[in-house]
Amino acid sequence: MDTLRVKGITDEAVLAAMTNIPRHFFLDSAFDEIAYEDRAFPISEGQTISQPYTVAYQTQLLQVKPFDKILEIGTGSIYQATVLAEMGVKAFTIERQKVLFDKTKNYIFKAKYPNLKFFFGDGFEGLPTFAPFDKVIITAAAPLVPPKLIEQLKSGGKMVIPVNEGVHQRMLRITKKEDGSTSEEAFENFSFVPMLAGKRG
Ligand code: SAH
Repeated sequence: MDTLRVKGITDEAVLAAMTNIPRHFFLDSAFDEIAYEDRAFPISEGQTISQPYTVAYQTQLLQVKPFDKILEIGTGSIYQATVLAEMGVKAFTIERQKVLFDKTKNYIFKAKYPNLKFFFGDGFEGLPTFAPFDKVIITAAAPLVPPKLIEQLKSGGKMVIPVNEGVHQRMLRITKKEDGSTSEEAFENFSFVPMLAGKRG
């Protein structure tokens, strides 16, 4: 976690959660030796588990409070969702690829985190049944800020989303104001796999 501190992660709750979660459980065993290096890895279906720094960065921007209700788009390896669950929030995560969603049925920490729920669906649609959310985090490169996800945010709620800007994405934090309008803060550039519309599989 010292690497993350050096890179500017200061939220102690984020650092503590990431220290408590063994990252090698989220990777294919071939990567055991290097699971703790600060880099992204392939999972399956051409997808990746985000670099720890990216996970820490997005989670810190989200300003997580215990008991927040948080929607994540892009379950992937379940690593980011586990970090949220470990922080004591009510976490909902959506994956559009059936193969990856099916893997969540064998999630090894299922008993430990009853506060984490998995959904198969298209993140552009969000989860209207469970809305509104205090926070929304998107972990794939979004072509735009999905309007339905703004709708599903509470007033005063925040969304952290990497939005396409050429080949990279600009990390944005959107805040929904009392009158329903939004304000936007821009942060560093990152590189994510694309957020695609519709389900697959
Ligand atoms: N949060 C993940 C990162 C996975 S990479 C982790 O911690 O490992 C991004 C994931 O977003 C991929 O699994 C991809 O299939 C998924 N994805 C892309 N577009 C999506 C959409 N519209 N709805 C839901 N998931 C999506």
